[in-house]
Amino acid sequence: MIAKAETPPIARTPEEWGEAVRAMGGRGFHARQIFRWIHARGVTEPDKMSDLPGAMRAALTEGGLGQVVAIAEERRAADDTRKILGRLRDGATIETVLIPNVTGGKSSLPNPVEQDADASAAADDDEEAAAETGADPVTRVTQCISTQVGCAMGCVFCASGQAGLKRHLGADEIVAQVLLGRSRLDPGEQLRNVVYMGMGEPLHNYEATARSLALLTHQDGIGLSSRRVTVSTSGLVPEIERLGKDFGGNIGLAISLHAADDETRSRLLPINKKYPLPKLMAALRAYPLPSRRRITIEYTLVSGRNDNVDEARKLSRLLRGLPVKINLIPMNPISESALGPPDLSSVLAFQQVLCDDGYSCFIRRRRGDDVSAACGQLALAGAKRKIRLVG
Ligand code: SF4
Repeated sequence: MIAKAETPPIARTPEEWGEAVRAMGGRGFHARQIFRWIHARGVTEPDKMSDLPGAMRAALTEGGLGQVVAIAEERRAADDTRKILGRLRDGATIETVLIPNVTGGKSSLPNPVEQDADASAAADDDEEAAAETGADPVTRVTQCISTQVGCAMGCVFCASGQAGLKRHLGADEIVAQVLLGRSRLDPGEQLRNVVYMGMGEPLHNYEATARSLALLTHQDGIGLSSRRVTVSTSGLVPEIERLGKDFGGNIGLAISLHAADDETRSRLLPINKKYPLPKLMAALRAYPLPSRRRITIEYTLVSGRNDNVDEARKLSRLLRGLPVKINLIPMNPISESALGPPDLSSVLAFQQVLCDDGYSCFIRRRRGDDVSAACGQLALAGAKRKIRLVG
């Protein structure tokens, strides 16, 4: 029988499985088999692990191995973005989104440098490569995953931020979202990128995030390339430094910047009061980025708050010398907030300033609007929450 280990079964590395199966009287190859069943094949029910001895399957069940996230609701948008509301074992709900790459699809905006993907920094490389080679790109999928139930950061434009933090997710619950998402792909689709941009601040839940990164990129499991995994943060400076050290800069980094001066940024992202821009910029300059890689700067445009051309010029000055690409994201309207996106001409004028200064700057089309596919929106729907607007 498996001793109740501290690490939940789906969060165990092959080495930890080695210890667990030895405690059951198993052999080293059983550990590799179990790890591959879970992570490479997406099977978490021990009864289905057909090449394991029956006694070991029973012990695994007793030790808690099984499904940790079930589908509570799944919605498909007109653009094929799929939003999955997942129910965890304790009844808490989180959300994950599958975003098919639709490069070459119809655009609702006229600007030639617009890209179609959502907040999927890692998808950029695919789109650029596909544009260069003319290859059919339609089956690559980016999955956006959550790391917390709710979020403590309180960003004013974000549905999760309105909800407050309920709890951290375990590494098993983070990885299980990817297993679930992969099982929901359409025929011909391939999971290509994973972005930590769903509910929660990933670096506020560092241990679980780091373990899940190691598991998602493990060659015997899902085997994602680390350059195709991106962690997005609102700017937790010590954890940015830690992520850089722990993964050698190989994990993609996206910063939710959203303003180029401390006063505006602190109004939009309260975390900025703790880690103001000079500290954040210093951490980004020190991030051990491999050559030819760039940090993604996410800038949500909020009408009347951070969207005029003076702000764009300030942003350009702030980022000078950093290897970055900039994603401009017109704010997703959320019913709990009076804030909203700017009009198209303001968005294009903002972008033009940055392009003129030599930055790669993309306007992100909102994806899945008809299924509440922005961060935290589906989980927020149906929950009664007290709304607190900052700034
Ligand atoms: S934008 Fe991200 S960090 Fe900010 S409240 Fe939303 S989930 Fe949290």
